[in-house]
Amino acid sequence: MLQIVLFYYLKVNFNLNQANSDALRVQLNNFRNHLHMHPELSNQEFKTQEFIETSLKEIGITNINRVGTSLVACVKGSDSSRLPIAIRGDIDALPIQENTNVVFESVVPGVMHACGHDVHSTWAFGAASLLLQQPLKSDVYIIFQQAEELATGALSIINNKVLPKHLNAIFSAHVDPRYNIGEVVHHEGAISAASHHFSININGKTAHAARPKEGLNPIPVAAQVIAEVNKINKDVGNNTNFITITQINGGVQHNIIPDCVSLSGTIRCLDSLIQDQILMQLVALKGELSHAQVNVEINDGSPILHNSTLLKSIAKSAIEKTLGGSSKVDLKMPNMASEDFGYFSQIYPAWYFRIGCTKTGSPFIPVHTPEFLPHEDTILIGANLLANAVILTDQNL
Ligand SMILES: [Zn+2]
Ligand SMILES: [Zn+2]
Repeated sequence: MLQIVLFYYLKVNFNLNQANSDALRVQLNNFRNHLHMHPELSNQEFKTQEFIETSLKEIGITNINRVGTSLVACVKGSDSSRLPIAIRGDIDALPIQENTNVVFESVVPGVMHACGHDVHSTWAFGAASLLLQQPLKSDVYIIFQQAEELATGALSIINNKVLPKHLNAIFSAHVDPRYNIGEVVHHEGAISAASHHFSININGKTAHAARPKEGLNPIPVAAQVIAEVNKINKDVGNNTNFITITQINGGVQHNIIPDCVSLSGTIRCLDSLIQDQILMQLVALKGELSHAQVNVEINDGSPILHNSTLLKSIAKSAIEKTLGGSSKVDLKMPNMASEDFGYFSQIYPAWYFRIGCTKTGSPFIPVHTPEFLPHEDTILIGANLLANAVILTDQNL
């Protein structure tokens, strides 16, 4: 008896809603496979944009704005006094040669969907398709966002002001091979790190290597700077807030003292207070050191992606409604990669799901590698999950 009940429970929950699944499964697999075969790099998603726009029109969504190579579509609700809700999927690919050997492998040499954004676009399209079948009170914006990999796409949509000033909620998700299919991470607070990159130029004076006093060697000064950067980690950093030097360039030949050494690297943080301290200490390195001039330049990447407390219970219910309670899992380890959905989370109540995409028993294949391929079973899960998050927000917030 227990077995029958368990089988029924798993079947009902894991197969989601059978009524929507069969036709939609085929439609969404085709949609995903097309995008996967024809990947485009960040800010060059012209054909992707056209394909998504045509597909949206085919299912009856015509309120569509183009923003650069992104799209923002709107499904109207019945009550215009309510705050709208949004879903965001990213659409760009990476400069990686695919090696998956699937029939829908990329036909573009050196470009592939190695971060799963083909699946994310499909989730957003699938959710839109599911929401069309629902009587919704709120307007729902569906965002297909360019250039996530460059961390510029979200900001370009925000700056373009195509979205309302206030939203009740915005949802997005990423495939995550560290979790199995059927698992979804439920984590309140910081879920992706802020990222900054920096460069440090140390200017000395070139001279013959045999007469160092006629010049000013920037290489020993660079060693001092590296020690200072490491000291920042010791003083204020920890495992989830740190600064790392990744590049060093200086000198051309053994007998010439160079006039300049340049360093660059990254800062990753999950805590904004520690981040500010790291940035402050890095800026303080600017100035004269052992008579050489040290210049520091910091460029902002994505901010911390923060899952809002306001949406914690909606997100939990959306996972349970989609897959059952046992699918909700804790974040296994802090995610130090950045995600430009963080920009949305700075201005709207936001929630970001991490959706498991590894088939139980299959080897772990990381994102951004030639073999990465999220399993097609994740497609209906993500589409239903995002649609359910919107429906629950519409009903409860
Ligand atoms: Zn990526
Ligand atoms: Zn990604």
